Amino acid sequence: MDHEDIRNGGPATDLRTPVLAIRHAICFTCLTASSNLKKCGTCKRVSYCSPKCQKTDWQRDHKKTCKILADSNKRRAELPRTAMLYEQYRSAKWLEIIAFKAQNPKYTDSQHRLMMHEPFCRHCYRSAPQLESQNQLRPCQTCRIAAFCADCPQEHPRSECKTFQTIGQDETFAIQHQRMTQRDFEVLCTEQPRETYLPLSTATGWHDYFTRISDKGEHMSEVTSEMQPMTDDPMAVKLAGLLRLASGTSSMALTILTALEAVFPDISTRTTLKLHFIGAAGPELASLMVFEELLHLLPSLKDLELTLVGFELPKPSTSTDDSAMKLECCPACTATSRTRSLRLWKGGYHDYVMTDGYQKPDLAVGFHTGFSQEEEEEWLPTVQYLAAAQHPTLFTSYNDTEMKEETAILERFGAKFLQRGEINKWKGLCPMLDFLEEKEGKYYFLHQYRYLLAGRDI
Ligand SMILES: [Zn+2]
Ligand SMILES: [Zn+2]
Ligand SMILES: [Zn+2]
Ligand SMILES: [Zn+2]
Ligand SMILES: [Zn+2]
Repeated sequence: MDHEDIRNGGPATDLRTPVLAIRHAICFTCLTASSNLKKCGTCKRVSYCSPKCQKTDWQRDHKKTCKILADSNKRRAELPRTAMLYEQYRSAKWLEIIAFKAQNPKYTDSQHRLMMHEPFCRHCYRSAPQLESQNQLRPCQTCRIAAFCADCPQEHPRSECKTFQTIGQDETFAIQHQRMTQRDFEVLCTEQPRETYLPLSTATGWHDYFTRISDKGEHMSEVTSEMQPMTDDPMAVKLAGLLRLASGTSSMALTILTALEAVFPDISTRTTLKLHFIGAAGPELASLMVFEELLHLLPSLKDLELTLVGFELPKPSTSTDDSAMKLECCPACTATSRTRSLRLWKGGYHDYVMTDGYQKPDLAVGFHTGFSQEEEEEWLPTVQYLAAAQHPTLFTSYNDTEMKEETAILERFGAKFLQRGEINKWKGLCPMLDFLEEKEGKYYFLHQYRYLLAGRDI
């Protein structure tokens, strides 16, 4: 499953290969900004702040990757030296990627991101190997993500530059945050459990959620509705960075709660909830704490049972014993005997439902399954099962293409929709580059689209 995210260029918060590093704005190893970076002499596709960083990367990975990138340069040098259209650029790039995938069975996500996000001239779509040796690609001095060759205008549309700046700022914050915490994500729950239920559906967006439903109100005047700092004040900048980064995980809890509110009119009085995560992997496991937010926003809820099912999960240490692991709750929840439990099952969901341990969930959740673009034998039986299952299922996707493909497949299997595919109010706040889509200049967000299957008995 190395290529799980191949269509989107790797996990969203892949800090091994931030776009800023691939575009030569920061050192590829230590991710520090410097005006004095030196390119690898062989592939010229990565830059380092020092010989030490170059050596570290060489031993870590670049020994293998350098060869792939040098080969890629050779192919690019065979392309026309004249300006290309986006369509030509895109198809040449995909052909190259498919060829490298075939030649390198161990083609990694990092290598894929280096291929996908290689610098190119924003206007003529040529990359460095297609340019005369004196014609160097120069980065946009504002965003440092777009680049221009010497033959083309040295600027790009202001709105695009602004989004690129946001991408750079989000990456820079995530890098600093990881340096301090060793985490490439953040979980920001409502600190104290709410005493009264306030429907999430009444919130107009992230700012309203943090202020009125959650308890970040006293600082929220420092950020805009887009969670950007109001001023250059370091505290405001830090708060905005944290809220934006945390939106990636909070998105999971809030998207679920929105679905629960749509499915269960009595959600505010329920005492137990069973959630099944289908095709679950790293993001769900790493940020389990975020589901505490459901306890904190639903005052009647006592027991939250989480079951993660997926091929990419670790094998449970006690494979025969079905007993659930107890997850730690916050002090306030623990004092009122509330519980969160976790079960893991490695494999396909259609197989899991046949096991003795299976209990019907209140809601099943498939985050970013990308099942329309995945291995058929792995996903089709699960999708077919869910289309006819006796419980509702929530899905999210990165983009509208996947959402449309997925809902078409589910429809063929006779699924009924409680909510059709739409933009998710609780999509993550950080834009991410999606360069090789059909339409140029698209960005995607975590959990950008959502849809909800009704289930058979509703
Ligand atoms: Zn460095
Ligand atoms: Zn190299
Ligand atoms: Zn150009
Ligand atoms: Zn720019
Ligand atoms: Zn709690």
